[in-house]
Amino acid sequence: MEEFAIGIDLGGTNLKGGIVSETGEVLNYSVTSSGNDEGPQRIRACLMNMAARLVALASDNGVKMVGIGVATPGIIDTRFGGLTGGAENLPGWKNTPFMRLLHEQFHLPVHAHNDVSATVLGEFHHGAGVGRRHVVMVSFGTGVGGGIVIDGRFYGGASGYAGEIGHLVTSAFGQVCACGIRGCWEEFASIRGIVRTARRYLGEPGGAKSLINRWLGDGGELGPQIVYEAARLRDETALRIVDEVGCNAAIGIGSLINIFNPELVIVGGGVASTGPLFLDTLTRHLPDWTLKDSLEAASIVPARLGYRAGIIGAATLVFEGINRYASP
Ligand SMILES: [Zn+2]
Repeated sequence: MEEFAIGIDLGGTNLKGGIVSETGEVLNYSVTSSGNDEGPQRIRACLMNMAARLVALASDNGVKMVGIGVATPGIIDTRFGGLTGGAENLPGWKNTPFMRLLHEQFHLPVHAHNDVSATVLGEFHHGAGVGRRHVVMVSFGTGVGGGIVIDGRFYGGASGYAGEIGHLVTSAFGQVCACGIRGCWEEFASIRGIVRTARRYLGEPGGAKSLINRWLGDGGELGPQIVYEAARLRDETALRIVDEVGCNAAIGIGSLINIFNPELVIVGGGVASTGPLFLDTLTRHLPDWTLKDSLEAASIVPARLGYRAGIIGAATLVFEGINRYASP
């Protein structure tokens, strides 16, 4: 009989959940508010409600449920059953032993992991990484996150913080990052890096007549969507922005390829989902920053699971036995 797990993806804004099969198929997908703006008590209530609804659905349908997996910002302590430190976009969540609460209420094994790590595991087991053993995933969004799979195993490091690739320093003379270090890669290649680059080009003499400026005047918001859309229409300023962003993205990915010699680099996140132009530009710049032999071994591919990645990754924790709550 096929086994299923509940996958829940807790984010700063949304709480996503579904019943996930061993093969990574998502049934009964749903999304609600994570309750973040009303504090940790409300987040906990939203999480418990989502789990209760999915457990009831599974039971009504006679599905064999083997556990609950949760993807959350922050680093998990499986003995405490919650986060060890804080999570930037979920203030107050660190003192909530949500794994214990889920375990006590539903009497199922509970697994949890950092959301980015869960996404990497989801892509590795059920998405773009299927059948590969040496994989690096990079996600370009609000920050730059990712993870590393070495010889088929997800690499967490000594205390779970491995894969903070956004804080690879790519320029000692760059901006000070949100983390306090100067010149982190994510200050160049995340959404705020793209916005900063765009402002600079738009402020130059040729920038005034850019489509981007016209759209901003019509109430558009400066971000990757608008920049890549203008670049698709061959707007000259947009093409220059996109080229610099591609170069900045390639600098970090080149270093990761030089260090890990992966056979596959999976590129995801909100910036990558604007369309193929991001990946095309990045790939064009890669040879300038990558050792030739390592680059030849690496395929650069888009992430495949999209908005379902966190849910599928959370369920993968259950199926692969990763980070289980150590109930007393
Ligand atoms: Zn940083």
